[in-house]
Amino acid sequence: MTALDDLKEELVTANHILANERVLDSFGHISVRHPDEPGHFLLSRARAPQLAVTGDIMEFTLDGEIVGAASGKPYSERFIHGAIYEARPDVLAVVHNHSPNVVPFTVTRQRMRPIMHMCGPIGGDIPNWDIRQKFGDTNLLVTSMEIGRDFATTLGSNTVALMRGHGSTVVGRSVRDVVFTSVYMELNAEMLIKALSMGEVTYLSDGEIAAITKGRAGFTFERGWENWCRRVGRPYVAQDWNMGEGFSKTDG
Ligand SMILES: [Zn+2]
Repeated sequence: MTALDDLKEELVTANHILANERVLDSFGHISVRHPDEPGHFLLSRARAPQLAVTGDIMEFTLDGEIVGAASGKPYSERFIHGAIYEARPDVLAVVHNHSPNVVPFTVTRQRMRPIMHMCGPIGGDIPNWDIRQKFGDTNLLVTSMEIGRDFATTLGSNTVALMRGHGSTVVGRSVRDVVFTSVYMELNAEMLIKALSMGEVTYLSDGEIAAITKGRAGFTFERGWENWCRRVGRPYVAQDWNMGEGFSKTDG
């Protein structure tokens, strides 16, 4: 197995986890930047994520062109991924989802903001992109680089951006990072809807969000990843993490 093969396995595992944790259903997708070719990324062929296998993983240029053999029809919304990798050299993995508890926050004035410590890294100021502002009446899908670049502009330097009437997109520095944030964004949305029905909500402060985001480290990702792997019957492969400076004190 090469490092690239290992990364494809990781991506397949991530597909299954995100579907099992309700971030993705039959739709939505996760990509990772190619480790040797920063101008390329890896993404499954258009298929329900829970069903993805290693042979489904395809390689694309940032413009969404297929590199090498095609295992099938590509996702029509692959431009979300390419446009973000183009705009954000720091981003190594992207999840685009229609997370069911997140969507209500895309169509109301109710702001999405973290209320629980595990959810802090979604960020305190989450933009909501509306495709209609620039492109008028569409089917709401990001089906070109022009639309993808407009979305990437709204995302800016944030970790998450909502997409009105559609879903959201989450970015990270690794597959495990972006999966973790995506799972906890959906949970934050679910908890926030419940909290709002009970009365006035106390959100995390900007200082708390910064402290949590800074403290989240490999150990935290590993603890979630191992559990989620078991839940979908995929092998857990431990990644090195630093018990020293980067040790997370935020995972409880
Ligand atoms: Zn979508």
